[in-house]
Amino acid sequence: MLKLAIEGGTPVRDTPYPAWPVSGPREEELLRRVLFSEQWGGYSELVTELEQLFAGLHDARYGVAVANGTLALELSLLAAGIGPGDEVLVPAHSFIATASAVSRVGAVPVFVDIDRRSFNIDPERAEAETTKRTRAMIVVHFAGQIADMDRLEDFAKSRSLIVISDAAHAHGAEWRGLRAGGYGLASTFSFQNSKAMSAGEGGLIISNDEEFTARVRSLGNGGRRPDGGWFEHFELGSNFRMTGFQAAVLLAQLERLGEQVRLRRDNTEELRNALEGTPGVYLQQQPEAASAHTLYLLPGWIDEDEFGADRDDFVAALEAEGIPVRAFYPHPLYKNPMYEKLPHRVGECPVAEEASEDSFWLPQRTLMGSVEDTLDIARATLKIHEALKLTSS
Ligand SMILES: *Cc1c(COP(=O)(O)O)cnc(C)c1O
Repeated sequence: MLKLAIEGGTPVRDTPYPAWPVSGPREEELLRRVLFSEQWGGYSELVTELEQLFAGLHDARYGVAVANGTLALELSLLAAGIGPGDEVLVPAHSFIATASAVSRVGAVPVFVDIDRRSFNIDPERAEAETTKRTRAMIVVHFAGQIADMDRLEDFAKSRSLIVISDAAHAHGAEWRGLRAGGYGLASTFSFQNSKAMSAGEGGLIISNDEEFTARVRSLGNGGRRPDGGWFEHFELGSNFRMTGFQAAVLLAQLERLGEQVRLRRDNTEELRNALEGTPGVYLQQQPEAASAHTLYLLPGWIDEDEFGADRDDFVAALEAEGIPVRAFYPHPLYKNPMYEKLPHRVGECPVAEEASEDSFWLPQRTLMGSVEDTLDIARATLKIHEALKLTSS
């Protein structure tokens, strides 16, 4: 009766989790507003509205909307004056854009280990890798949990480093009640298809620094200035602008964000409690200062000896039980073939190496159904553990 679905048994679930992304009449209404206006591009009033609203909601004075999250990072580094000769600290695990943005502006990424419990950049390791050439640090708030900004900001200040947050996972996340605009020079967001707010593609840079924001805006808009003409270009910029259609969808998505985060948080609390009795399964630990985790993902890791199976067997068995789950990034960023050719530096990264072997994440939609839907994750996990215990005894 304890036959695992992967061995032909009945799966814990045969109904899918809620689909992602979601949309409704509000998206439609705002899209129509752009469609029937004469401004479909980046000068749409909806883009301005999104920039101001999103920045304000994230404790920042200024916002600049761009085409995607990768360009948001590249533009932030350019506007911060990071370039050839500079080193930039980045976590060893993230989406490639965190590191490639550094390489694209001609600087050298320095890969720093992550912390075992939070999956975020390890402040001690970051400090240890800092040299005279280090100009900046990109902090990723992995899965929607803000990194330890107390320690990171302290050491960044003492070494005069520019701090940029890659907040692609962290729409609405808080550290001591402060959202991503509250620390560092700038924070960048992504609105790619899977993200907690989506327009298919999209990005946004927020900051409290007026001069930096003016540079971002000019470099992202063909080197123009607010007081100059359409055909007057003052710096070597490019076109990074977001369209009115993207902004329309995002304004509607923003109205739903708070409620969606609360749902994920409530379901996750139940899941954490329900998993407590299953040995060898560990979920990302949340320090008290991370006062609002937005659960774009729920990461965790498997202790093979305690659980009775390794991560790969766990992921395959859980998927067969009807739970969408993903193995962690297959390798740290520096092991991508592109870094065989590009200048970079790698610190000691034992945790990052381990995480590729033993870690996994649950996507946000597994936390967006009913409590019972989410508890199926715990039921399936326990089932796998029990079945393996029986086969090994
Ligand atoms: C999604 C993501 C980005 C940006 O991705 P785009 O697809 O270009 O919007 C950057 N960093 C991280 C950590 C991400 O997950």
